[in-house]
Amino acid sequence: MHTLSIKELAAGLRSRKFSSRELTQHYLKRIESLDPQLNSYITVTAERALAQADAADAKLARGEGGALTGIPLAQKDIFCTEGVKTSCGSRMLDRFVAPYDATIVRKLHQDAGMVMLGKCNMDEFAMGSSNETSWYGPVKNPWDVTRVPGGSSGGSVAAVAARLAPVATATDTGGSIRQPAALTNLTGIKPTYGRVSRYGMIAFASSLDQAGVVARSAEDAAHVLQAMSGFDPLDSTSVERPVDDLVGGLGRSIKGLRIGLPKEYFAEGLAPAARERVMAAVRQFEALGAVISEISLPNSPLSVPTYYVVAPAEASSNLARYDGVRYGHRAADAKTLEEMYKRSRGEGFGAEVQRRIMIGTYVLSHGYYDAYYLKAQKVRKLIYEDFKRAFASVDLVLGPTATDVAFKLGAKTDDPVAMYLNDIYTIAANLAGIPAMSLSCGFVDGLPVGLQLMGNYFDEARLLNAAHQYQQATDFHTQMPKAFQ
Ligand code: GLN
Repeated sequence: MHTLSIKELAAGLRSRKFSSRELTQHYLKRIESLDPQLNSYITVTAERALAQADAADAKLARGEGGALTGIPLAQKDIFCTEGVKTSCGSRMLDRFVAPYDATIVRKLHQDAGMVMLGKCNMDEFAMGSSNETSWYGPVKNPWDVTRVPGGSSGGSVAAVAARLAPVATATDTGGSIRQPAALTNLTGIKPTYGRVSRYGMIAFASSLDQAGVVARSAEDAAHVLQAMSGFDPLDSTSVERPVDDLVGGLGRSIKGLRIGLPKEYFAEGLAPAARERVMAAVRQFEALGAVISEISLPNSPLSVPTYYVVAPAEASSNLARYDGVRYGHRAADAKTLEEMYKRSRGEGFGAEVQRRIMIGTYVLSHGYYDAYYLKAQKVRKLIYEDFKRAFASVDLVLGPTATDVAFKLGAKTDDPVAMYLNDIYTIAANLAGIPAMSLSCGFVDGLPVGLQLMGNYFDEARLLNAAHQYQQATDFHTQMPKAFQ
């Protein structure tokens, strides 16, 4: 059952080949026996999952329900889930039980009838590229358990890649959906900023954060993204605009589709073997009728430094709410209020989160604001203009997702700058707010390589269709890690 796609699962449930309870039990058993090797879940909600499965079975028996009813899904532990621990990968929220559901949780489980298997491990407050900053310990890559799965959505991708969930939610502030998807042979999509509600999604950098999906294929991703998307009055940055038919849009030919390759994305820094896989995919797109041209995104080398001013600035402000008073970790036996603040935050936050808060506070401080934060906002505008210019002549932009295959656990933990450079190809899409996705385009020494596609605002349907056409012609995305078949 764990090899079936979402479409196949829906058909199986509808024709009573198996019930949602059987399907859910099958996944829960796999989690129990295989997850100790990976650490992809922080919390498994078995009881709730079975109750949701029974409700879905009853619905299906009445001939009701939709395309996702009764299908299990794992939630990144950044989304508030009523009555269930929501840790955000941090000691700060280790004992936090959310009092309400995030909008996407309500949409996926209450409205669409999906079954929540549990909450996935992640880098602390989504800060990281390897899932090594989690308070709950690192996640292992199912393709090689001595390597990282990428981050910050490392638990979500490890769970889906090892078939411990058919699909999972994830979030992307600078690459946290796409980079881990690339490192684990998955398809991950970060939609346009404002497409999916951020209500109930724990904030990291609010002008960059966007929720999305990690799945085994573009088709699976389309089904789930469709159910998550849409206007939400509870999120003031949510965009009031109808959602395109993402699933229905998958059958179209890509003949004549104009794809631009930014020359900056193929320069020095990209591993030659990974580059070769990406170029083979380019030839495949050409064979499918796409028209390839070289473009330039001249400001893209500035995206990492810009991000590491803007994101920490917003994080320092967002994380000020964890003061030990209202919720979250509170240090024991503090003598004064100030000591209580200091110790609660010192104990509750890990080293990377503290580093970001310090950088953010510094760049926002009087005297440095103009030199750093304001300057970064100006460069952000230039990055946005690069894309605007590019989309005047091409429909999609194609490049690598990451510089190389998954690296070894511990390889970059002592070098934050090397870790930050992981996101060199993914960050620009967040700064500009455009949709972007990653899909697998082959392997180097048995490890997956990711290909990135970026689109114009609200062009998710075109992105997913292009990825789907590529996946119809290739079989990389169907490969499973041997130890988790
Ligand atoms: N790796 C980047 C960071 O550490 C991006 C994280 C993300 O997208 N949430 O900030």
